[in-house]
Amino acid sequence: MKYLAFLILLLAPLACTRSGTAQPEQAAAPPETPAPLPAAAVAVADTTTLPVAEAPPEPAPRPEFSVEYLMGKFDPAQHPDFVLVDKKYADEEGYFLRKETYEIFQKMWEAAQTDGISLTIVSATRNFSRQKAIWEGKWTGTRLIENGTNAAKQYPKPKTRALKILEYSSMPGSSRHHWGTDIDLNDLDNYTFEQGPGKKVYDWLQKHASEYGFCQPYSPKGDHRPTGYNEEKWHWSYIPIAKQLTDLAAHRLTDDMISGFKGAETAMEISIVQKYVLGINRECL
Ligand SMILES: [Zn+2]
Repeated sequence: MKYLAFLILLLAPLACTRSGTAQPEQAAAPPETPAPLPAAAVAVADTTTLPVAEAPPEPAPRPEFSVEYLMGKFDPAQHPDFVLVDKKYADEEGYFLRKETYEIFQKMWEAAQTDGISLTIVSATRNFSRQKAIWEGKWTGTRLIENGTNAAKQYPKPKTRALKILEYSSMPGSSRHHWGTDIDLNDLDNYTFEQGPGKKVYDWLQKHASEYGFCQPYSPKGDHRPTGYNEEKWHWSYIPIAKQLTDLAAHRLTDDMISGFKGAETAMEISIVQKYVLGINRECL
């Protein structure tokens, strides 16, 4: 009804002008006395607006994302769209997710629980500076890479070193973990999910995660996914929001924007955006 009243108000001047022409005596009324809305005009407005008022409500507006957001240049603890993840769902305190991701994750968590499957968030949102600390730790050798080596010593050539780190870690500014839509579950090791209780978890996720909008972006590499990070059975992405950010990356993110950390000079020759940011499971696009 509010909408209808608004439209009547909107149409009122138009209706008045028309009736003014048809009824010149009203035009002569003193300007300080507003002319009453003629019954005919109300009828016209009613007829005109009725179908509009009965139209289905507009869908909720989709969030608009900036390139700064896409690149993780914000603090999730201060961001109005983010919430702190309850310890019940995680291996430690202090993870943040976008509200939409968190709400649907809780539903998936409950459903998994009912089926005897335990889901635990072991990583969630990481902003640019957090990703920079991880990347530079691996780049300088203060943090070992996944094969247990010191990449700085083992791979002195910058491009080789970057490619080695990129098997499992993103350059700052190019990670899906910036978005508040992506989570790592249970363990950062594919083998865990290939046998025993971990396989049950993975089988459950493969069967049910899509019912909640989650998808595994880093599927096995091969013909279907020739470039990008290695397979990560633990990394799941909330696609209704992440898809918008992937689209934004495809249109607005360029390799020269991936900068501000050690080893960033390799981003261009590696084609980070095309091969890594967009090198994901087609089902997640
Ligand atoms: Zn991850």
